[in-house]
Amino acid sequence: MTAAERLEKRMNEIRIFAKKSLGQNFLISDGVITKIIAATESFQAEKIVEIGPGCGALTDLLRVKYKDIILIELDRDLIEFWKNENMQVIAGDALRIDWNFAKGRLLVSNLPYQISSSIVIDRSLEKEMLIGMVLMFQKEVAQRIRANCQTEHYGMLSVIAQEFWTMETVCEAGPRDFKPAPKIASRVLKFTPRESTVQDRKKYLSFVKACFKQRRRVLSTNISSLDEHFDRSRLPAWSLEHKKSDKVRAEELSPTELNSLYHYLKV
Ligand code: SAM
Repeated sequence: MTAAERLEKRMNEIRIFAKKSLGQNFLISDGVITKIIAATESFQAEKIVEIGPGCGALTDLLRVKYKDIILIELDRDLIEFWKNENMQVIAGDALRIDWNFAKGRLLVSNLPYQISSSIVIDRSLEKEMLIGMVLMFQKEVAQRIRANCQTEHYGMLSVIAQEFWTMETVCEAGPRDFKPAPKIASRVLKFTPRESTVQDRKKYLSFVKACFKQRRRVLSTNISSLDEHFDRSRLPAWSLEHKKSDKVRAEELSPTELNSLYHYLKV
């Protein structure tokens, strides 16, 4: 049976329609599904957590390979279905639940588009929690995550993701790989944890957020919102040392440079 046939059968069985409000664009491409499952293999994971199993495009294959899977789902009908299938289900919003259960797990998901950037930020703030992630994004979000400095898509999301993960593109997916078909293209990324010199990740996030507060503004203006945990008066000395103009903007600094600036200003 193809993935498209499996989906049709499952939707009839559960008696559901795709809900736009929950980002329910179900995967129907056997090629894309196979690539996602193959990408999970390099982690040699024993335990998986999947956000949004939906009708099981990934779950059905994951459960053949992995014995220990925890599903997070928000849709009541789907929660009931997966519980009846004897799967472990956390019924709730992936952005609100306590993630302590996920230690040592590999996160796999065709993410609902509404929560995809927040999931990357949230999961980046916990050191030694997940062993990796294989995630489907809208292409534009995937581009933002991997963007280089001085490019259109570069911003807070790029800096946080690149500081804490090494990333690879797994595959592309077009509108026709989903049902219902979204308007835009998608991309799957694979994330492997990366050593970072940042100890307090939440503090780093607040620093990076301040740096990008107003994209077109110079860094010296943006960081004026930083609290007493940072010595903002040290910016000119750092700029001089790193041969940057005093009008430098955050989007001109690489993740490595922003990390360096963070440690220079932090008191
Ligand atoms: N994995 C399935 C697939 O690939 O066909 C479904 C993916 S669909 C893009 C997103 C799934 O996430 C849906 O099952 C939806 O109900 C669920 N979902 C949406 N928002 C969620 C949230 N905040 N927390 C957990 N699950 C959510």
